[in-house]
Amino acid sequence: MITCSEQQRIACAIGGVFTALAIEKVLPVMHSGPGCLQNSGGVLGRFNGCQSGVSYPDSIIPSTNFCDKDVVFGAADRLRRLVKKSLEYYKTDMVLLVDGCGSEIVGDDIEEVASDFADSSAPVIYAKLPGFKGNNLWGHAQVLKSIANQYLIGQPRGGYNEKQVNVFGIVPYFDSFWTAELEELEKVLRILGLEPNIIYGRGKGIAAINKIPQAAFNLVLAPWTDIEFAEHLREIFGTPYFQYPCLPIGPTETARFIRAITEYAKLDRQNAEDYIKREEDRYFYYVKNAIRVFVGSPVTPRRFYINSSAAQAVSLTRFLVNDWGMTPIKIFITDDAPVPYQDNITAFLRDIECNDAEDFDIIFTNDGGLCDQELAKETFPYRRICLFGTCWDQLTANNKRLPFLPVSAPYGDAAVGNTSYFGYDGALVFIQDLYRDMTQKILGSGIVANLEEAAGH
Ligand code: SF4
Repeated sequence: MITCSEQQRIACAIGGVFTALAIEKVLPVMHSGPGCLQNSGGVLGRFNGCQSGVSYPDSIIPSTNFCDKDVVFGAADRLRRLVKKSLEYYKTDMVLLVDGCGSEIVGDDIEEVASDFADSSAPVIYAKLPGFKGNNLWGHAQVLKSIANQYLIGQPRGGYNEKQVNVFGIVPYFDSFWTAELEELEKVLRILGLEPNIIYGRGKGIAAINKIPQAAFNLVLAPWTDIEFAEHLREIFGTPYFQYPCLPIGPTETARFIRAITEYAKLDRQNAEDYIKREEDRYFYYVKNAIRVFVGSPVTPRRFYINSSAAQAVSLTRFLVNDWGMTPIKIFITDDAPVPYQDNITAFLRDIECNDAEDFDIIFTNDGGLCDQELAKETFPYRRICLFGTCWDQLTANNKRLPFLPVSAPYGDAAVGNTSYFGYDGALVFIQDLYRDMTQKILGSGIVANLEEAAGH
């Protein structure tokens, strides 16, 4: 049987470069084909909410543009010259040499090239990211390991900080909403009495990397990503880690997360409860303000499909079931979650307040088009069903007139900006976005076109 995976929702290992681009003034130097970064950029950058590197947009990243001739003669010397010139012309705090398939196969030694710059003005490290070894999540893990093993381990350590927590689990760019999520998460952790240390995003960079070994613990907010890295940090620095399986959305999951981390880090319980109460009051004020459209509308969806990464699937499922009483029909996990983690992911997805928690299907697949194929066969006479996925799923949703939101990479070419569905405010934004799509698809530009049809009568 001939099978073909369609609709790319994950990049090759070289997409790990986007993790470096999320850290201010870390400059990747590519020793790969000229199109390699562009390939990843489609899923993680420009078609993922119009995103790009901030310190270094992808269009100015130095590259040896490894080509046919180099497959015969190698191009390590050209890489050396490129690194030398990059250190001269770019303001940078760290240089990360990255190779792709071609240079890795012919054996160009980027480790040796990096070692030639041991005394340079900025540290030069390397990560071998040929696409034949894994996907961008594997590449992301390699970049973090390179930073820890080749840079951090040799740095003088500051003193232990009992309030500091390093935040991991959210994979920058692969999580389309990473910037705003991290900003909001940082605010919440501060209110709870912690000193969050986040290496990605505005104003962080090498200073935040240097602080990693000082932390009291590492927080991994994900069902599986960065667990291995947290275990690695425990090995090399002795830092324990606390895993919470999703970035919480909505009052139920956010309160659960706050109580869990308060318990784990022995924080002030009353302070946490006061925060939960304040935010819940505010959240429910807005929900009640629009209760007739959010809940009382005859077109409000009751059931849903998800076609996304494991992280987004767990966050969304818990929110939609626990706070909105919706039920999942089928959940497709498309981020190639490693087999040893799949039972845990399944358990996280079924850990919901739903009598029929065993009744929905969870499918781990590399084929993002599988969900669309299945939906194409269905008829939805009552249309109280919605779909969450990537921009690829938009067409299916349009054809079937199903309310739809992109929640996973590639998000599409609408600018994601500072959108985030995290926490209390994020849940409100999510419901507003979903209702806007429902209005356009079913009711017609905000005017009730055919309420009876929409209600399925
Ligand atoms: S699979 Fe290899 S050749 Fe293709 S984009 Fe990725 S690194 Fe480049």
